[in-house]
Amino acid sequence: MRHFIDVILPLPIPKTYTYEVSEREAAFLSPGFRVAVPFGKAKIYTGLVRSVHQDPPQHYDAKEIDQILDEVALVKEVQLKHWEWIASYYMCSVGEVFRAAVPPSFLLESETMVIRDETFDDSEETLKDDEWLVFEALQHQSVLNVQEIAGITDRKRVLPIIKRLLAKGVIQIREEVKEQYKPKMIRYVKLHENYSTDEALNQLLEELSRAPRQRDVIMSLFTLEVSDPKPVKVKTLQERSGASSAVIKSLIEKNILQAYLLQHDRVGYEEGELDQTKELNEYQQEALLQISSEFKSKDVVLLHGVTSSGKTEVYVKLIAEVLAREEQVLYLLPEIALTTQLIRRLREYFGEKVLVYHSKYSANERVEVWNKIAANEGGAQVVIGARSALLLPYESLGLIIIDEEHETSFKQYDPAPRYHARDAAIVLGKLHHARVLLGSATPSMESYYNAQTGKYGLVNITRRYGNVLMPDMELVDIKDKLKKRRMNGHFSDRLMEEIQESLSEGEQVILFQNRRGYAPVLECNTCGHSPGCPNCDVTLTYHQFKDQLRCHYCGYRMARQLKCLACGSDELDTKGFGTEQIEEEVKVLFPKASVGRMDSDTTRGKYGYDKIISAFEQQELDILVGTQMVTKGLDFRNVSLVGVMQADTMLNFPDFRAHERSFQMIQQVAGRAGRTLKRGKVIIQTYNPFHQILQQASMNRFETMFSEQMEERRQFRYPPFYRLIKITFRHKDYNKVNESSEWYAKYVRNVLRVDAAMEVLGPEFPAIPRVRNSYNKNLVIKIPADRSVGLVKQQLKKIDNSFNAIANFRSVRVIYDVDNY
Ligand code: ADP
Ligand code: ZN
Ligand code: ZN
Repeated sequence: MRHFIDVILPLPIPKTYTYEVSEREAAFLSPGFRVAVPFGKAKIYTGLVRSVHQDPPQHYDAKEIDQILDEVALVKEVQLKHWEWIASYYMCSVGEVFRAAVPPSFLLESETMVIRDETFDDSEETLKDDEWLVFEALQHQSVLNVQEIAGITDRKRVLPIIKRLLAKGVIQIREEVKEQYKPKMIRYVKLHENYSTDEALNQLLEELSRAPRQRDVIMSLFTLEVSDPKPVKVKTLQERSGASSAVIKSLIEKNILQAYLLQHDRVGYEEGELDQTKELNEYQQEALLQISSEFKSKDVVLLHGVTSSGKTEVYVKLIAEVLAREEQVLYLLPEIALTTQLIRRLREYFGEKVLVYHSKYSANERVEVWNKIAANEGGAQVVIGARSALLLPYESLGLIIIDEEHETSFKQYDPAPRYHARDAAIVLGKLHHARVLLGSATPSMESYYNAQTGKYGLVNITRRYGNVLMPDMELVDIKDKLKKRRMNGHFSDRLMEEIQESLSEGEQVILFQNRRGYAPVLECNTCGHSPGCPNCDVTLTYHQFKDQLRCHYCGYRMARQLKCLACGSDELDTKGFGTEQIEEEVKVLFPKASVGRMDSDTTRGKYGYDKIISAFEQQELDILVGTQMVTKGLDFRNVSLVGVMQADTMLNFPDFRAHERSFQMIQQVAGRAGRTLKRGKVIIQTYNPFHQILQQASMNRFETMFSEQMEERRQFRYPPFYRLIKITFRHKDYNKVNESSEWYAKYVRNVLRVDAAMEVLGPEFPAIPRVRNSYNKNLVIKIPADRSVGLVKQQLKKIDNSFNAIANFRSVRVIYDVDNY
């Protein structure tokens, strides 16, 4: 009898491929094993076994596999089911999900390039002969591909050698360069050695009786050390003693205290040393009880808690319960930037049970976390991650938390799988019979609607922790201020006054401008020309720091020209402004303040966020200027003022979610102010102070905003009343994009015409038709919520097949984006 396996290839091909295996191999293999298989012209790929059977393929002769790569299945059955759901719902191949889900070193193939791992040394002579040959070759040549390794070792099958070398830490898979590991250091204090004897200590206390504030600090240090033998952070001491940082600094300078640095994740987490979770206040307690009771009848609960209401501490209680049952918890965040603070918080409670997984980690680190989750030793883990953490090999998930569930960055745009992590997480929860908790201060229309209609449970926390009032929000009319000459650069007199006041109180300020760079347009005053990107239909953004013009779509850069490229005039002026310009203005207006900037230009690399966030936390910075990164879930203790430099750009964005998103953005950034004791202040500068969204956001009218927006969604046929599938046609040839999209549109209209409630819009060029030298044209299909989306997708697949059968269209890329948010 012949044996076959169906294999998922990590490629955008719709079906599995069948290969022949021996009887022994068939007995050994099961779904989830990796196999190296030939595919196409002399290429080898790492595929994933989907099934083992005895039916030969009908239309081709099955090839034999190259070899088996695993001793146990790498991917779990429930994981495969989830991937298949993603592929089918978001209209991509399971192979594309496979590729997105696993660390690159799990996907060795004939195209793989390997490099030396600099940290390896062979002093213990652990390498086998063939391994040593590769190691030696890498001393002379920085990169090797699979063919070269085959040549060096004189073997045909080299993937096992590569696998062994990876396991021994000799080589790495070449990917985009990852930052070298730079551990985060935290400052601790202890009493200086000079005072280790009782005698010296008594004398010190004697002397300090004339300096009561310094004495308080020392006494606080003692209490802290007695209550908990862990090292004491400078920050903790400062909080406990209520002393200013100047007092502590002078104690260190006088050699009474001694400061030292410890590596953040090296501070051991012995079982007994973990912090107790915090005691909840009555509102949090009530919310926790309600969540548990909602979970009795519902799989998904939405926690709508205002900013700084202490949602995280509520999650912590739920996590502790699940861990006690020895199940896993997945904690999804929209942004890697947010993981920094959360990791620290959760590690204090759960120690080494906390694992982190995201794309900024190197391949090796990701492999390590993958293996830990798959093994799930001890049966209790909390995995913190952005989107892709959803695709890991969970054994037994008990709870999934989706924090800041309204964030649109949960949706992946490019490349496939174009999935929405929140929605895919709900499906994952079902597969594991796990509970799913969505949390937000500004829920998305979709989730809130689901909660109102009873599909999800709804729990509210309406007060900030510690009963701090919601921040006081003031709208400032820029038009009026300009007329009265009360603008200084981009700062109104009101904003300047408030900044001045915060600074003089020793408090911190966040300034929000949703655009990076210096200025989005550099324009010639003589002829009006502004330099555009040669590859995209956009003007280049001026970045002053490097004195460059850059394209934010394709990364194109050029040095700034001193003369207009069109007419030669040297009268060039900037229009509009970004974070860089605000930073510069702040430095001039407030020369004594120290200013930092957080945007994607300043946070590259794995530790980019850490540096800026901790500098701001440690109050080394007075003012933080940033893009939307500063609006999201961060918890800073000393920020009393938030300034929104210009609210209008987001309101006018051509997107049906622009209003919802503006509301969320303003409320979220405002939520960073006044989180501890004093009520925070927010200044929103705008040309439209009477815009209904700004009014609603500044008065915390979530319900009003929700019902008005829902009315518009209903009227204009948008989600949640309709589902959207966007189809993009992409090609370098303008005419081809036009012809092919018209052809497709006509076909779709014909097919969907039978149902009058279906709507097809376009094809239309988007606001920026040409990006990276390719033209895009979009077709949008609107499907009423009560119709079967599955059926429409089936029809689209048929059309896609006919489309690809037309020779002239075959090179046009057709991209499907389901639930395009
Ligand atoms: P949210 O996520 O709702 O914006 P957080 O969970 O970040 O709010 O809580 C805001 C701040 O209040 C945090 O610094 C947190 O440590 C503190 N906090 C919240 N709940 C408690 C509690 N029960 N006891 C002590 N501090 C708390
Ligand atoms: Zn000109
Ligand atoms: Zn460009």
